[in-house]
Amino acid sequence: MATHVTVDADRCTGCGLCIPVCPNNLFVAGPALNSRGEQPVLMVDAQYCLNKLDCVAICPHDALIPADAVESNVAGAFYWMGRQIGKASRLIPPRLRKDQP
Ligand code: SF4
Repeated sequence: MATHVTVDADRCTGCGLCIPVCPNNLFVAGPALNSRGEQPVLMVDAQYCLNKLDCVAICPHDALIPADAVESNVAGAFYWMGRQIGKASRLIPPRLRKDQP
């Protein structure tokens, strides 16, 4: 099975939120530091990725890119796009949002 998630080491802060959500425990703390001196995660045994994308959903820094999912999995692509739209909507001041009292 192809790798469905790619780690962007420069975006990853090494917070570790993705580690427990992976059903196959594919994420570990990486051996190298990124450009900000943080320790990004590394995906090991990527061939066992189940393409659940829970890691992508939980990452607060958009450091996990569902590269193959965007190309080959329509649901994954829509999921990822919805997440981007959700983040963008948070940039709207609360007084301008309809969902605010
Ligand atoms: S959740 Fe995102 S920022 Fe945190 S360790 Fe995982 S990839 Fe890095």
